[in-house]
Amino acid sequence: MYEYTEQQESVRHTVRAFVRKEVAPGAAARDASGQFDYQLCKRVAEVGVTGMLFPEEVGGSNMDLLTYCLALEEIARVDLALSWTTFVSLAVAQSVITMGTPEQRVLWTERVVKPVIRGEATTGAGITEPDAGSDNAGIKTRAVLDGEEWVINGSKIFITNAGLENCLGVLVLCRTESEGLGFDTIFVPTGTPGYKIAPPLKKMGLRSSDTRQIYFEDCRVPRINRLGGAGEGLDRIVSGFFVGRIIIASTALGLAEECLALASEYAKQRVAFKRPIAKFQYVQGMLTDMALNVELGRLIRDKAARLHAQGKPFIKEAAMAKWFITETAKQAADHAVQIFGGMGFMDDCPVSRYYRDIRAATIGEGTTEIQRYVVAREMGLLG
Ligand SMILES: Cc1cc2nc3c(=O)[nH]c(=O)nc-3n(C[C@H](O)[C@H](O)[C@H](O)COP(=O)(O)OP(=O)(O)OC[C@H]3O[C@@H](n4cnc5c(N)ncnc54)[C@H](O)[C@@H]3O)c2cc1C
Repeated sequence: MYEYTEQQESVRHTVRAFVRKEVAPGAAARDASGQFDYQLCKRVAEVGVTGMLFPEEVGGSNMDLLTYCLALEEIARVDLALSWTTFVSLAVAQSVITMGTPEQRVLWTERVVKPVIRGEATTGAGITEPDAGSDNAGIKTRAVLDGEEWVINGSKIFITNAGLENCLGVLVLCRTESEGLGFDTIFVPTGTPGYKIAPPLKKMGLRSSDTRQIYFEDCRVPRINRLGGAGEGLDRIVSGFFVGRIIIASTALGLAEECLALASEYAKQRVAFKRPIAKFQYVQGMLTDMALNVELGRLIRDKAARLHAQGKPFIKEAAMAKWFITETAKQAADHAVQIFGGMGFMDDCPVSRYYRDIRAATIGEGTTEIQRYVVAREMGLLG
């Protein structure tokens, strides 16, 4: 099935119009200053993107994953950083709905979920540590129960959104050996004594997204802040990655499409040797490769999202989508810089920002090597 539903096309159209009018104009300036725009965060919500995956009773519109992917794809076409900030924050808010007990849902729907859906707040996910990234089970951050409180010690790195002024807190993956169970996810609100946030990390791309190292030093949070059942933390996080991969793949797809559009247009206008450079076969080759990969990427992303919606196994397809689309988007940005020539290397040219930004996409939400491992595992090759 190659066509999108009427509703999906309508969402795509609405988000595209919003993005072109309100997100694109300031994207380069936000990147240059490394500033996150809190007003824009609210506008993304007003357009309806933040509520798409949430039930109506909490202010959402209960749409399917593919529709949400199409919306984020449009945002990523002009500002990958904004699409990642939005995705991370919503993923944590969603965990409250999917993992929370009825009591937690009542408590945090008002405090966390609704403000995030309204675009007034953000959240972060604290999984990666200085000594453990791909190897999630190697984390050392520890939470010990002391009466009615968790006492957390450890450190997390590369945490998106943690330092934003409107960040409500971070969902932290911890070892909880005191209970002899393994791993739990615990929500740590910003401002909790013992929760420290380092200055922003300096990055080669995605500069208007906030990325920090965070520390927990005898940080105490109420027992109820553990989301999900005892010992379920790692499994829940890993399951979240399966869906997250389809979403990150979608943002990379958006960036690749935009590189293709910008480079095609430029190739038709730019004249060398008395003809448009689009007439040169080597330039055509780069553009046709980009076009083919965008088409193939869309097919595998759509398939993964549809399998998910149908409740069918989608882990292999999600990993393939993440692997193929992020790698080919990286190549698309590279080709786009090449086609723009010297101008492509200048900060004023959008593709130079895309080239820097996309580099994170083959790393975050599971590296390419991890996706290949997952595909091999799902193919039954590991025995
Ligand atoms: C912009 C950005 C934002 C991020 N945001 C967040 C966030 O919000 N929250 C969070 O928790 N983390 C976040 N991360 C961290 C990200 O998830 C990790 O960087 C990623 O999982 C890789 O972990 P690592 O950096 O420790 O690399 P490592 O795991 O040390 O990997 C190093 C290299 O070894 C390879 N490798 C590792 N294991 C294997 C294997 N089994 N087989 C083959 N190759 C292997 C990797 O593929 C990679 O090439 C973010 C990262 C970036 C760049």
